[in-house]
Amino acid sequence: MPAFHEAIVIGGGPAGLTAGLYLMRAGIDTLLLEKAITGGAAINTYHIENYPGFPEGISGKELMDRFSAHAKSFGLKIEEFANVEKVSLKNDIFTIKSEKNTYEAKGIIVATGTQPVKLGIPGEDRFIGRGVSFCATCDGMFFRNLDVAVIGGGDAAIEEGLSLTNIVKKVYIIHRRDKLRAQKILQERAFKNPKIEFLFNKRPIEFAGKDQIEYVVLEDVRDSSKIKLIVDGVFVYAGSTPDTSFLGELIDKDEKGFIITDENLATKTKGLFAAGDVRKKRLRQVSTAVGDGALAAYELERYLLELKK
Ligand SMILES: Cc1cc2nc3c(=O)[nH]c(=O)nc-3n(C[C@H](O)[C@H](O)[C@H](O)COP(=O)(O)OP(=O)(O)OC[C@H]3O[C@@H](n4cnc5c(N)ncnc54)[C@H](O)[C@@H]3O)c2cc1C
Repeated sequence: MPAFHEAIVIGGGPAGLTAGLYLMRAGIDTLLLEKAITGGAAINTYHIENYPGFPEGISGKELMDRFSAHAKSFGLKIEEFANVEKVSLKNDIFTIKSEKNTYEAKGIIVATGTQPVKLGIPGEDRFIGRGVSFCATCDGMFFRNLDVAVIGGGDAAIEEGLSLTNIVKKVYIIHRRDKLRAQKILQERAFKNPKIEFLFNKRPIEFAGKDQIEYVVLEDVRDSSKIKLIVDGVFVYAGSTPDTSFLGELIDKDEKGFIITDENLATKTKGLFAAGDVRKKRLRQVSTAVGDGALAAYELERYLLELKK
């Protein structure tokens, strides 16, 4: 028999953990399923300084450990390494299948966030773990006193590029445009940092080397001229994408795959809500994920009350 819970939250990042906390405080029997370890994308962030209440900043891992401990203190059950592969609905009951188990619930909150986008260029897959990384906080230490490149011009690229300067000898920030997209405060810090050199109007077209990455081939987007940039490591921050395929026809998505909700985070299927980075919205941050988690939990609570009537 599938294990039954009133509510199931899928994804253990800031949105899912907040939803779990609110649901438990509302007296709703809730299980949170997380495909890896609890904490989400924020766990891999070196330093978060825009989450209110922490003016000195806090490491992403510590913040997420606090979220998790807080939710558990209200009795939230969390199952880690439970990758949800399919969700279906029959007679107002959702069936949720992970690799190992099947569960049933009256309501669901999807808070599965996003994953980093790969560049899709020659050498990328071959050198993942051999110089190519998507997480400076996880892998930066392997490049102590070495030269690295960061690909991207948004907040994540600049934040993580700055954090890498505490460890490595030099950081090249490679951006395909002539201006960064990152917040002004981050740009100012990066422009002042003597360890950072910017290579604008350039895009990587190949990662090359023998056993480890040795250089990146960069193409100038204006005249297609090419240079070889010799580096020991590359950190890719080229955007992020959601995986919502496990929801099939239960949701509407935008052209990039983000879940479309109404202003109360309801999807097109009654009882199925979406929260955090996985949904179509403008600002993807810990603070907005937290707000979404709280609202989705409140709306799910109302839905369950209606079902009882
Ligand atoms: C490098 C970097 C730096 C950042 N810096 C900041 C910052 O300084 N300040 C800030 O506010 N924000 C920052 N962010 C953004 C912030 O981390 C995200 O906005 C936030 O984590 C989104 O929370 P979420 O819960 O929606 O999704 P996520 O944190 O992505 O969590 C989703 C969770 O769902 C799980 N999951 C996915 N699919 C499944 C499945 N099928 N089954 C079960 N579980 C699944 C994932 O494993 C993950 O744990 C940064 C992000 C990155 C990448």
